Amino acid sequence: MRLDIVSIFPEYLDPLRVALLGKAIDAGRISVDVHDLRNWTHDVHRSVDDSPYGGGPGMVMKPEVWGPCLDDVCPDDALLVVPTPAGVPFTQATAQRWSAEKHLVFACGRYEGIDQRVFDDAARRVRVEEVSLGDFVLIGGEVAVMAMIEATVRLIDGVLGNPRSHQEDSFSDGLLEGPSYTRPVSWRGLDVPPVLLSGDHAKVAQWRHEQALERTRARRPDLLADPVKPAGDRGPDSG
Ligand code: SAM
Repeated sequence: MRLDIVSIFPEYLDPLRVALLGKAIDAGRISVDVHDLRNWTHDVHRSVDDSPYGGGPGMVMKPEVWGPCLDDVCPDDALLVVPTPAGVPFTQATAQRWSAEKHLVFACGRYEGIDQRVFDDAARRVRVEEVSLGDFVLIGGEVAVMAMIEATVRLIDGVLGNPRSHQEDSFSDGLLEGPSYTRPVSWRGLDVPPVLLSGDHAKVAQWRHEQALERTRARRPDLLADPVKPAGDRGPDSG
């Protein structure tokens, strides 16, 4: 998979080259190119923003800079991802779907965001998805993009050492994962649940499912609003 990210703070994306993602780059499973939006400016101040039409606080990122940048960086067969709190929610199902793409391009906004015409124009030739990391407002798109990339890339074959890791994660069966334990059996007066030491795989699986259901009921009852089925079968990301 090829990943291109456009930002006015390219150094923000450096952690993408660390740990498992760094290994995925070294192994040739993904390539990551980060582009400085200011390379597409033409004025002496290299300005990327201007005041908003209609008034209001803050600045809006300019179409004359973003447009040519995306013309260069985002080919017609890529998926253009626009992180924005006003987007549709990013979920595990989104990550699953994106993990099958060949080329993702991310446009990191700053200030009050990017002139809408940039994406209306891009949508005339590429697929565009405006996606939110959650119901909160970040300062810029970089952190959202790093989270989206990490969630997506770990689903690509061969990126995680053991593919079962993500098959049994929270959301993969529509539930939150239950609690995990490792050695020692007893720690600070707290014991590992005996069923996990029983060696009975069926009983362990049953216990884990019950724990997952209980935790989901307590913390995320919204996930149980639908009958239990894989996250990939739910909501706007289904199909
Ligand atoms: N004026 C915008 C609004 O109210 O919807 C918020 C702009 S925010 C301060 C600047 C940039 O941060 C956005 O363009 C986007 O790239 C990013 N951003 C902020 N919150 C985000 C979120 N929840 N999900 C994805 N991106 C976010």
